[in-house]
Amino acid sequence: MIKTRFTEMFGIKHPIVQGGMQWVGRAELASAVSNAGALGILTGLTQPTPDDLRKEIKRCREMTDKPFGVNLTILPTLVPRPYGEYIDAIIDSGIKIVETAGNNPKPFLPKLKAAGIKVIHKCTSVRHGVSAEKVGVDAISMDGFECAGHPGEDDVPNLVLLPAAADVIKIPMLASGGFGDARGLVAALALGCDGINMGTRFMATKEAPIHDNVKKALVESDERSTALIFRTLRNTSRVYGNSVAKKAIEMEHEGKTINEIGPIVAGAKGRVVYETGDMEHGVWSAGTVMGIINDVPSCKELVERIVAEAEEMIRGRLAKAIAA
Ligand code: NAD
Repeated sequence: MIKTRFTEMFGIKHPIVQGGMQWVGRAELASAVSNAGALGILTGLTQPTPDDLRKEIKRCREMTDKPFGVNLTILPTLVPRPYGEYIDAIIDSGIKIVETAGNNPKPFLPKLKAAGIKVIHKCTSVRHGVSAEKVGVDAISMDGFECAGHPGEDDVPNLVLLPAAADVIKIPMLASGGFGDARGLVAALALGCDGINMGTRFMATKEAPIHDNVKKALVESDERSTALIFRTLRNTSRVYGNSVAKKAIEMEHEGKTINEIGPIVAGAKGRVVYETGDMEHGVWSAGTVMGIINDVPSCKELVERIVAEAEEMIRGRLAKAIAA
């Protein structure tokens, strides 16, 4: 067992958290991750309304008696979303762990803290991590440039971002972006973190509620198979480098606005990719970690393998590296 400040604070067995992924973070995956002793996360905005989120939380509870959390990402959306009402749904459903992302969590904290909720704030820069710590979140999930989805605009990969953050952030911190195996977990601990957050890696699991074609693409692609869209809009998103992502980048370079690009990049179209396996229907998030994804295990097999190999690496190869 690997015990860290994060496992202690959040009452979980293993220092591994599942990323809140749009269309993927549903009860099937979150419960399987939590049942494996890691922390599963439901993605709030995947549910069309706050009431649907209440139902999804109830469904997840029927599938696990272990702790799980809810992600709430506050970024520009094509259709405005009622964040306050999603927060109410989270609170009245008795959720005790929330992952905020995309924007300063300050406006939501008083309500979440009053409900006894622990907040993990996911951010992509040291300065945002410091601000979140100051306003009272319980843990930081630091997301490096390797990550899927929104890596911010600073382009600092985790080998530098994590130790720079660990130098100034005192609360428990997760390493996010590019993590998928035991080597990553051991490296994260060495870089000053208390655990890892994995998104794309958990997409390639038996329980991930997405089409097998997507899982196959994750296994067959490599670390060069992603594309960065929305760079020109300063809302960069790392997605699978398919024809739709390439078209979106081309339109950006032609100076097209979000209203013109919106119809091809809409999340609703990405959802169809996950549901039907039509890989060119829309954009879908994927990280550079694809370069080290080679199989589709169950969540339990994946989590247990990572922890067992990490323990073995720390006791074995690393301990032996110290000269007598
Ligand atoms: P959506 O269909 O509303 O928008 C599609 C994409 O366009 C999103 O990446 C969104 O940020 C971007 N976008 C929308 N309006 C924009 C604007 N005015 N300027 C710049 N970019 C704009 O989004 P969705 O797929 O329904 O996702 C809902 C939320 O979840 C969004 O905030 C999205 O960014 C977020 N998300 C986060 C991750 C992640 O990194 N964790 C992954 C996927 C989606």
